[in-house]
Amino acid sequence: MTISNITKRFRVDSPDKFRLAECDPNDCHGLTIDKSEAKAMLAEGLEQLVELQERLYADDRWSVLIVLQAMDAAGKDSVIKHVMSGLNPQGVEVHSFKQPSVEELNHNFLWRAAQRLPERGRIGIFNRSYYEEVLVVRVHPELLDRQRLPNSLAGKDIWQQRFEDICGFERHLARNGTRIMKFFLHVSKEEQRKRFLDRIDEPAKRWKFSMGDVAERKLWDKYEHAYEDLIRQTSRPEAPWFVVPADHKWFTRMVVAGALVQELQALGLDFPKIEGKAFKELQEAAKALKEEKP
Ligand code: ATP
Ligand code: MG
Repeated sequence: MTISNITKRFRVDSPDKFRLAECDPNDCHGLTIDKSEAKAMLAEGLEQLVELQERLYADDRWSVLIVLQAMDAAGKDSVIKHVMSGLNPQGVEVHSFKQPSVEELNHNFLWRAAQRLPERGRIGIFNRSYYEEVLVVRVHPELLDRQRLPNSLAGKDIWQQRFEDICGFERHLARNGTRIMKFFLHVSKEEQRKRFLDRIDEPAKRWKFSMGDVAERKLWDKYEHAYEDLIRQTSRPEAPWFVVPADHKWFTRMVVAGALVQELQALGLDFPKIEGKAFKELQEAAKALKEEKP
């Protein structure tokens, strides 16, 4: 069994048939972390990722955009911390998208994301993203009012139009050398309840809990519907969604790491070759350095 085989199962390849209710947040592909197999696979995946990132950086043509979406306490932070742990910080940027500022609200809904896209050679991680525009904004209609769209443009078709705009945006990025991977960390309502209780119980985690989280939890079904709809509407070969079981954090990390390894491997990146005149010049530089007096 390889990490890539496991990962494939969670990529949404037939969006028309996608049903969130058919995805089990507790799924671990029959593995347990106590078995050394799972640990070894994760460690191997992380090692490969380090090497692949170096190639991505040296090649300097592709960029990778990772979108992380989830309900509260599903483990976005832990994925960022663990999966990205060995990477060269120069080549990775993390951006967290919170409630938009007044300036951001004065622009189109993709504006703030467009400013934070990764440069060539880099991996960009969006901790929440423009998908909040078809999630929290859909679940809370008053947030749409704050966007001050002309009335004629804020009708019932707006979500469908946003899906189309998002797909257009992602296609544009893909055509310009950005590989996009979108992860929905799918936690169960019961596991979220336990994690919230843990956060309240443990002094070191208490700061993570906000009363707003309880309010959003009450809207669970509305969020599920919004997630299902957006996954059906915005899964594309150039920007696939992965619905990652998130009741076991180690398994979530493994799937995300595996998906990244697979994607980067598929780019077939190599270190730039130095040949001909440039190689000769290098050899001359080496010779001069050797002859230098200490
Ligand atoms: P944590 O796991 O630490 O709670 P978080 O991503 O939930 O991390 P918070 O600061 O708790 O971060 O919450 C950010 C909030 O901003 C979320 O409730 C999210 O829905 C909201 N948000 C993000 N983008 C938008 C948007 N475009 N419009 C309105 N609200 C948004
Ligand atoms: Mg939160």
